[in-house]
Amino acid sequence: MRSNYQRDRDRIVHSTAFRRLEYKTQVFVNHEGDLFRTRLTHSIEVAQIARGICRALRLNEDLAEAVALAHDLGHTPFGHAGQDALNACMREFGGFEHNLQSLRIVDLLEERYAAFDGLNLTFETREGIVKHCSLENARKLGDVGERFIGGRRPSLEAQICNLADEIAYNNHDVDDGLRSGLITVGQLRDVGLFGRHIAEVEREYPSLTGRRLIHETVRRMINTLVCDLVRTTEANVAEHAPADIEALRECPPLAAFSPAIEAENRELKRFLRINLYRHYQVLRMTNKAARIIGDLFSAFLGDPRLLPPQYQRTDDQPRAVADYVAGMTDRYAMKEHRRLFAVGEI
Ligand code: MG
Repeated sequence: MRSNYQRDRDRIVHSTAFRRLEYKTQVFVNHEGDLFRTRLTHSIEVAQIARGICRALRLNEDLAEAVALAHDLGHTPFGHAGQDALNACMREFGGFEHNLQSLRIVDLLEERYAAFDGLNLTFETREGIVKHCSLENARKLGDVGERFIGGRRPSLEAQICNLADEIAYNNHDVDDGLRSGLITVGQLRDVGLFGRHIAEVEREYPSLTGRRLIHETVRRMINTLVCDLVRTTEANVAEHAPADIEALRECPPLAAFSPAIEAENRELKRFLRINLYRHYQVLRMTNKAARIIGDLFSAFLGDPRLLPPQYQRTDDQPRAVADYVAGMTDRYAMKEHRRLFAVGEI
């Protein structure tokens, strides 16, 4: 009764890696507060935005949803700091990249089906998961790596998921950043996209304050970005008029923001990078997180007997350690760290 892409989505939702997203950091570590986004709620927001855009453009919503729900499966605990730390640990062993890890999970690491390893997803979902990768890695990926070598584009649905990811995180990081108190409305007033929307809300609702003012502003920002993306993509498709999917792969990226919105989006990203992702309180946490990942990796690689038996491997022990560490949730990684390093813990 289901299409191939619906089945892909369902298999992703039922996977172990998907459930773990609930306990993995987006920006704020999972235990820092109950209201912040996690990788799970982030992925659901990406799927919601991508589906809305794809419906408006009459694209395949199920494909977009599958790609969106799977796009962050390969993330390590503790967000980007965790990935950077694991990549540093794996430097001599082929590196670590969360996109490729997402593919590894759906192709290989999930063990649920009698007939095959992984989830046996369609080519289109798999290629959508691999957002970017190095040429060196692309050569090892087979079918989904070819487009990086040939300089071609993935499906429009995958292109849209990519931008829906940006729309989701820029806006929810504004929301979470304000909720945490690490950034302020005052600072954000100077950022074009936020500034003009909050001014509009204050004109229409002069007495609105607090969380509702922020939420009303953020929802309008999302709406502006989504509508601009739909309009610009529609115009790009009309201009290039690809006859079929193969022709579309040869076109420049057709899913795009208009130049003005693209510039505003970039300004917002830059603001968040400087003021939120590099805020000293965030850096303290990510620094600690990086050390936990580094310690775990060294301990396990130094003595693989400390690993659960299924991760003790003779063929590629570093990769098996990376798979194990990357699969951990934030709190599991902290617990493992205490078990291995804290005297008196078991
Ligand atoms: Mg994401």
